[in-house]
Amino acid sequence: MIIDLNAVKRSGKTETSFFFEYNADIEIALPGAELMPPVKVQGTAYITGGNSAELEGEVVFTVKGACTRCLAETEKTFSADFNEVFGEDGYRIVNGKIDLSKMVDDIIIMNTPVAFLCKDDCKGLCPTCGKNLNDGECKCNN
Ligand SMILES: [Zn+2]
Ligand SMILES: [Zn+2]
Repeated sequence: MIIDLNAVKRSGKTETSFFFEYNADIEIALPGAELMPPVKVQGTAYITGGNSAELEGEVVFTVKGACTRCLAETEKTFSADFNEVFGEDGYRIVNGKIDLSKMVDDIIIMNTPVAFLCKDDCKGLCPTCGKNLNDGECKCNN
């Protein structure tokens, strides 16, 4: 996921749009769930100075695994907008090139939900008998 700002400059432009499919090599903080490849990254890079650029766009990623409450196999896609400055501060520009990997990994980690639910109102499992309460009530009376 490299954007070559020198090539953009050579073509006489100050901005370029990009689209990448990326296989992130990170662990997400959700027990029993994993990130499914590919992560999709799209946006526009604006050259704002000799060694600075601003990137805005969207990261779309899919998580697959067990629902936090009822353990049902669940697959969900999340999207996160970004607007980041690259240059001396923050993410680096090296030899006129931007590598998006670190930023995208950070965005995925920041936007992974604390609870991974099969649906927003998942009723979970009965703590007494273990029945999946999405399938109907049990007889435990709690
Ligand atoms: Zn559930
Ligand atoms: Zn029960």
